Amino acid sequence: MTRLILVLGDQLTETLSALRAADPAQDLVVMAEVAEEGTYVPHHPQKIALILSAMRKFARRLEALGFDVAYSRLDDADTGPSIGAELLRRAGENGAREILVTQPGDWRLIASLEALPLPVRFLPDDRFICPADAFARWAEGRKQLRMEWFYRDMRRKTGLLMEGDQPAGGRWNFDTENRKPAAPDLLRPRPLRFEPDGEVRAVLDLVEARFPRHFGRLRPFQWPTDRKEALQALEHFLRESLPRFGDEQDAMLADDPFLSHALLSSSLNLGLLGPMEVCQRAEAEWRAGRAPLNAVEGFIRQILGWREYVRGIWALSGPDYMASNGLAHRAPLPALYWGAPTRLACLAAAVGQTRDLAYAHHIQRLMVTGNFALLAGVDPAEVHEWYLSVYIDALEWVEAPNTIGMSQFADDGLMGSKPYVSSGAYIDRMSDYCRGCAYSVKTRTGPDACPFNLLYWHFLARHRERFERNPRMVQMYRTWDRMEPGHRDTVLADAERFLARLHAGEPV
Ligand code: FAD
Repeated sequence: MTRLILVLGDQLTETLSALRAADPAQDLVVMAEVAEEGTYVPHHPQKIALILSAMRKFARRLEALGFDVAYSRLDDADTGPSIGAELLRRAGENGAREILVTQPGDWRLIASLEALPLPVRFLPDDRFICPADAFARWAEGRKQLRMEWFYRDMRRKTGLLMEGDQPAGGRWNFDTENRKPAAPDLLRPRPLRFEPDGEVRAVLDLVEARFPRHFGRLRPFQWPTDRKEALQALEHFLRESLPRFGDEQDAMLADDPFLSHALLSSSLNLGLLGPMEVCQRAEAEWRAGRAPLNAVEGFIRQILGWREYVRGIWALSGPDYMASNGLAHRAPLPALYWGAPTRLACLAAAVGQTRDLAYAHHIQRLMVTGNFALLAGVDPAEVHEWYLSVYIDALEWVEAPNTIGMSQFADDGLMGSKPYVSSGAYIDRMSDYCRGCAYSVKTRTGPDACPFNLLYWHFLARHRERFERNPRMVQMYRTWDRMEPGHRDTVLADAERFLARLHAGEPV
């Protein structure tokens, strides 16, 4: 009897559990480009183009491997509106009575598959280094789920960067040597980018015609769309940028959107690269003496630590996680996130780059756009929807914990011991944005004061009850309390005025 093997757009891995379980002689692989997946949030056009291009190439690869693939294109006349509709159509055509799928990374999609009138068998997604049930066991009985402890366990379990039972170099963490500001450098290596081939160009035309109103520039489109290109991008990164990765990890420069970052998240998230192979290749660069330990440890921590950890949090927390709002923030997302002009140079740069490239690196996401939304009291569900829409690598399992937990502190501190908030001083230290800004980062009150300076204290004051006993925040409250009462009142009144303008939709 024919079974349907559903392969989703982020499951483009030959060794996927559903493909391993399939019998190519009997089963039918179903892949479908459907309108619902392109529009449940307004995805960036480059993200839609990447997923459709990579799906088309992967389908051909599966056929070459001997699978029978029923592939529905977005512009085929009989393609249904949703994945569920396509599965039922293919089941009707082929008399299939069962569907096999590797666990999707999106609770919305899981619910829609569970609601189908056909049995759906979910197989674990074993492309992660830490299986979801192992993460659940690690989390059991712990009050706080700190990434650092999880990461150390993962180092021990995998043996990555270990010397016996000790961490290589005698330390788990080299942050004190990392996180420096960066200077513009014309010789800094650029990430490898890919010119679209004929297949990708056809998808670009389709996306242009079908999603004309989605935020974001479609061209130039330069992302890796198959495993061969993703491997080239990985090798290029390891050779050219990994040695500087640690030093420049947290820096931001207006004219250099990529610095020494890898630009590998979309390839990892679609399954073109495996997390373990990427970590092992990075470790090999250190062992061969081609990259320093601080850079390699910093990079491996992002994947073995953060990426695996957020996946565990997502799987553990379930679908309600997306509605978390621990700080009861209710303001709408300001129009500047969708490209409305702003005089804040850092936000203009981070959002402009996001519009043009579908990319911003971690610190831009966390300490510029995320920090501002948190300080301004924006509803975390709206922030989540924005991040899920605009980035090339945004999938619910990885985006939601990063946004709702790490960035917006909406999960009641499940992920973080304190909120990631800062005044303008942090952005000034780590970037060159403030030099070109209409506001003054050195000014603390008045219409010219950097809004981050005003909103930072406003945030602390309005959430005092929640945070003043937090050991990591006591010092901030002491500093606030030592200020002149008159000065404090002015800061709060200026912040209120700014927020009123922002939330009324006035340009800021
Ligand atoms: P690099 O800086 O070069 O890092 C190397 C790799 O480490 C990345 O490719 C990525 O796979 C992994 N990584 C690094 N940090 C994280 C992290 N915090 N969580 C998971 N993996 C990490 N990452 C996504 O893949 N998808 C998202 O939708 C996403 N949304 C985010 C939202 C917010 C608010 C924040 C603060 C971070 C988000 N991140 C997300 C994490 C991180 O910003 C991106 O993984 C990174 O910027 C991707 O660019 P890169 O490949 O150049 O990464």
